[in-house]
Amino acid sequence: MYNTIIIGGGAAGLSAAVYSARYKMKALLVAKMIGGSFSEAHKIENWLGTKSATGIELAERFEEHARSYDIKIVDAEVISIKKTKKGFEVLTKDNKYETETVILATGMRHRQLDIPGEEKFLGKGISYCFTCDSPLYQDKVVAVIGGADSACTGAILLAEYAKKVYLIYRKSEIRAEPITVDKIKKNKKIEVLYNTEVKEAKGNKFLGSILLNNNKELKVDGLFIEIGHVPVTALAKEFKLKTEDGFIIVDDMNMTSQKGIFAAGDIVFNNKVKQIVTAAAGGAVAAVGAFKYTQKK
Ligand code: NDP
Repeated sequence: MYNTIIIGGGAAGLSAAVYSARYKMKALLVAKMIGGSFSEAHKIENWLGTKSATGIELAERFEEHARSYDIKIVDAEVISIKKTKKGFEVLTKDNKYETETVILATGMRHRQLDIPGEEKFLGKGISYCFTCDSPLYQDKVVAVIGGADSACTGAILLAEYAKKVYLIYRKSEIRAEPITVDKIKKNKKIEVLYNTEVKEAKGNKFLGSILLNNNKELKVDGLFIEIGHVPVTALAKEFKLKTEDGFIIVDDMNMTSQKGIFAAGDIVFNNKVKQIVTAAAGGAVAAVGAFKYTQKK
């Protein structure tokens, strides 16, 4: 029987792992992928103590730190969580684990645009990951959809490879971090198309163009959809946790409306600034919350 099982290997999950180990809980971390979504980041320059690192570098450091403690880390997908008399049963494809508490740190997944051609050209010109795919567009023409941090940092990275980058935003003023907005405005390769939406992705075998809401067709070799994320909370459905906009509501110690289930990181509604630093903080609070809960029991 574990004291806690942490689900998710991003900043929240790994931080919860470190804190669980320091509170000497018997803890298990189960994750499909260590590193979480921030490991896709091209450059991280706001993690205190590290002026600049790639997402992968930072994720490797986080993982190394977590693994330096006495905590088991399993590379698997959790299929379900069930309530038992003593706590919870966490099921993966191959195993079943018993635990007193659960810390959900499952983060978010990329939001889809839902336009014709999006599915057809996925991996054939359409991507949701500029860090993974930017180098494929050396001297090509690409478009990025979105107007916040991901789209803008994506456009800046793409401009290091592509000869032309269209940043397509549905409103009239992009809303990334001001320092990023400055970089966009200064970059001669980036053209921002304001008040513009993409209606269709077209091509034969590969993406060739995109149709805009003003009926113009823009020739592009690549299209990066960076329009935000949706929380991954399917595992919690059975418990009918209190949520808002799909994000889980937690108390001061990050406990959800189900006693014994904690949540941390981007899936948490109360976490209004979705950053690595807040995810890591949430993981720490959830682990201490789980510790206190098990002590009380
Ligand atoms: P956001 O949810 O912040 O922004 C999504 C963007 O996509 C918005 O500009 C939104 O438009 C637009 N959008 C949403 N749906 C559609 C649609 N159907 N069609 C067209 N456009 C659409 O997501 P991000 O991924 O940018 O950021 C997520 C979180 O991660 C944020 O908290 C962000 O601060 C953080 N982050 C931080 C970074 C950093 O360097 N500090 C880097 C990357 C992410 P609208 O503006 O109209 O809502």
